[in-house]
Amino acid sequence: MDKKRLLVDMDGVMADVYAQFMAWEFRATGIQYRREDVIGVDEVQAFPNGKKHVYQKYFFESMPVMENAVEIMRQLTHAYELFIVTAAMEFPNSLPEKYRWLDTHFPFIHWKRRVFCGDKSVIQGDILIDDHFKNLDTFSGKTYLFTQPHNANSTDHGHERVANWLEIAEKLL
Ligand SMILES: [Mg+2]
Repeated sequence: MDKKRLLVDMDGVMADVYAQFMAWEFRATGIQYRREDVIGVDEVQAFPNGKKHVYQKYFFESMPVMENAVEIMRQLTHAYELFIVTAAMEFPNSLPEKYRWLDTHFPFIHWKRRVFCGDKSVIQGDILIDDHFKNLDTFSGKTYLFTQPHNANSTDHGHERVANWLEIAEKLL
């Protein structure tokens, strides 16, 4: 039987983008934000210097990895035809930096399985894990909404929520 095609987002799913925004904001201003301070706001808009930081070198490359993501992704690559699907056009540094980030933390994901794109609505597959409604709402397969502060207080738009990687493992392995 053919394996199902599983598509996995990077920022806010594999990469802890909030930890990064908070660390860079603290370094720039001395203000320590918490996740509960930024509920319901798009992550780039949520921090005063967010829009500046996404254009700075090393922001994407030094992003922390989400807890348990590496080991569970390794298992998922055996169980599924797994592709990374990530937006990497809006912020020019993000493309090479995200590629190197995958080489560093997820070297078992072959370049043929890395889809760096602008608009994810062109993407098709059986299952998509993402944290943004704009990507999930247009997807024709099964969808999982990864809970992040920007979507935490929203209705789930009919997508199945997962709060962390252990829940992904429970549902998909
Ligand atoms: Mg994302």
